[in-house]
Amino acid sequence: MTPDPLPPLRQVIAAHGLAPRRSLGQNFLLDLNLTAKIARIGGGPAGMDLLEVGPGPGGLTRALLAEGARRVLAVEKDARAIPALAEIAAAYPGRLEVVEGDALDGGHLGRLDPPIRIAANLPYNIGTELLVRWLTPPAWPPAWRDMTLMFQREVADRITAAPGSKSYGRLAILAQWRSEARIALTLPPEAFTPPPKVRSAVVHVVALDAPRFPADPGVLQRVTAAAFGQRRKMLRQSLKPLAPDAEDRIRAAGIAPTQRAETVSVEGFCALARAFAP
Ligand code: SAM
Repeated sequence: MTPDPLPPLRQVIAAHGLAPRRSLGQNFLLDLNLTAKIARIGGGPAGMDLLEVGPGPGGLTRALLAEGARRVLAVEKDARAIPALAEIAAAYPGRLEVVEGDALDGGHLGRLDPPIRIAANLPYNIGTELLVRWLTPPAWPPAWRDMTLMFQREVADRITAAPGSKSYGRLAILAQWRSEARIALTLPPEAFTPPPKVRSAVVHVVALDAPRFPADPGVLQRVTAAAFGQRRKMLRQSLKPLAPDAEDRIRAAGIAPTQRAETVSVEGFCALARAFAP
């Protein structure tokens, strides 16, 4: 790692008037040792193109560049942060492109070259929505190779949950069907400025070349939505709205119609998706 030539982040925040705004989910990481640790998750970004969502004052951005990222495309909604990010771009010529805009508008991944990593200390209000989009592209494998994403600990648990646990649901199935998802780091509130109310965790998600089990993504989404929409009910009840012969289809998938959604594995849900295919 080459030394970061830029001033400390507190100085950057003061110089650019970047007082954190709650409306933008701004909880900044100011410790460059910590951002370096996050940048190195999944083997470091050397030789990769990265999409970073919500760079803010640029702590993680700086770490990604210092750790050797080939190119970072950083999408930031807060216009106040753009001049601070421009200083980072000047320190790493040709390697950082800053886009002022809303990450929810999408279209950014298409501008990068593989291998692509998505890295973000996400605003909590849009984190789950972006994750679901990245996990459900029109075709698989996706444009990204892996993702290093900060979430509230509770959301990280839902992404990595095993069947039978109370966090297990739609998010776990979406994340684990075609990817490897693990919690790489947990962080106390004090790691952020200002500290959020809850603990956070960095989740590392690696795309598999092919799904673990065959299933149509649309049907799988419908089945998991119906099953977990009424997670306390038996499947024969919760899946009934999907087909009049739901009970037969559940049996054909090798699942007991009296099971509840949270006891069915990812493999089981893929079998259900095949059984409920039109
Ligand atoms: N990455 C920085 C860090 O780790 O210190 C900032 C993280 S802060 C939790 C979230 C960042 O996302 C803020 O800079 C915020 O302005 C930005 N943001 C919020 N909503 C956004 C959106 N829809 N699109 C792009 N950036 C957004």
